[in-house]
Amino acid sequence: MDFQRDLGLEAFREQVRAFLRENLPEDLSGRIRIGTRSPKSELKRWQRILNEKGWGAPYWAKEHGGTGWSVMQRLVFDEECTAVGAPSQDTGAQKLLGPVLNAFGSPAQKAEHLAHIFSGERQWCQGFSEPGSGSDLASLRTRAERDGDHYVVNGQKIWTSYAHRADWIFLLVRTDTEVKKQAGISFLLVDMKTPGITVRPIVSIDGCHHLNETFFDNVRVPVGNLVGAEGEGWKITKFLLNNEHATAADLPMLRRYLAQIRALAMRRNQGGSALLERHEFALQLARFEAELAAIATLVQRVAAMEEDHSPAAHAMGSILKIRGTELLQKMTCFLSESLGDYGAIAYPTPQEEEAADPLPMQDVGRGVTNEMFFRRASTIYGGTSEVQRSIIAKTMFQL
Ligand SMILES: Cc1cc2nc3c(=O)[nH]c(=O)nc-3n(C[C@H](O)[C@H](O)[C@H](O)COP(=O)(O)OP(=O)(O)OC[C@H]3O[C@@H](n4cnc5c(N)ncnc54)[C@H](O)[C@@H]3O)c2cc1C
Repeated sequence: MDFQRDLGLEAFREQVRAFLRENLPEDLSGRIRIGTRSPKSELKRWQRILNEKGWGAPYWAKEHGGTGWSVMQRLVFDEECTAVGAPSQDTGAQKLLGPVLNAFGSPAQKAEHLAHIFSGERQWCQGFSEPGSGSDLASLRTRAERDGDHYVVNGQKIWTSYAHRADWIFLLVRTDTEVKKQAGISFLLVDMKTPGITVRPIVSIDGCHHLNETFFDNVRVPVGNLVGAEGEGWKITKFLLNNEHATAADLPMLRRYLAQIRALAMRRNQGGSALLERHEFALQLARFEAELAAIATLVQRVAAMEEDHSPAAHAMGSILKIRGTELLQKMTCFLSESLGDYGAIAYPTPQEEEAADPLPMQDVGRGVTNEMFFRRASTIYGGTSEVQRSIIAKTMFQL
């Protein structure tokens, strides 16, 4: 890996910044900056703007209509978008499902779905985890039994992020109970409007509704919605989960929180002086800066390994996931504490429109406490820290 300044990448960063300055409408970024989530209409608008620039699918290869960017270019794009509060694209569709359809989808599936992902018209959710089958995903029990030209799906998924807003779900189901557990899993695409699907909300510790339980009761899914062959679901899942190790630390979000801490350092006074002038605050800020710099260097290294298709990128991604998510938690706790009494304001429903009454420290404080609570989950989602440690140990000791 080369640690010299990458002038090409710096020029690319400038290009992205200029594009965002000129093309990101104020009303699209405002909502994100105060910690609320964009409605579908705004996501579609942003997707259209990206499409006009040819940046509608930043994670896909050129031959599939994507940008063909390197891992580092994608990271730079994400960082700059996060810094200015651009609406995030439908990441489930863009980062997870899109590459799967490009690699394993039938021509009919590609024709049906890829254009809708591009337009932002069809939003997706991920139906993998079940009660009792999270870390041990291969033990999943949701059944899909063949009945003529349909599968009949029965079972339950849990922690389905944004299922209540999604149009379609990509689903892991058990199609064979007689074979080794991994070999009996298949990958289905299901329209959320199909009769028999029930979505129930789970309100998380941040007071928000991101998560759901999703129930399937005799849901009839056309056989044409099977991706790959029957029993290939595990192979497809490994492909899907093996993407983008360098992003595991969520560097764009870490940089954004650090910028928020710096803003707070200047903005908030305590006892007549800026927070930054307090020794403990300045010391902690310096520690965060050092930790973030170390993670950023590791990200660069993992990105280079990914470009080289090095098998060690997987375990390095696990190191990044642990270090990055622990830092997300520490930074959001620190932000909330630094707000003092204002940090106690919980803003229980940040997805809603702005609160009618402006709140004190709204510009730096809104949504911080929700974020702090939400990030408790960061060491669980995307594979728990314990599971990541097992991956590292297995790789290091060749277990
Ligand atoms: C905010 C959030 C969003 C999510 N979104 C989605 C989504 O959109 N779609 C989806 O399908 N899933 C989603 N998930 C589910 C997520 O993938 C699972 O929560 C995760 O895989 C852990 O599984 P589990 O919750 O069943 O915990 P379990 O696997 O039951 O783990 C419980 C505890 O046991 C530990 N443990 C388990 N196995 C081992 C082991 N072998 N060695 C050591 N320790 C172990 C774990 O580390 C954990 O501490 C989401 C979760 C969260 C929190």
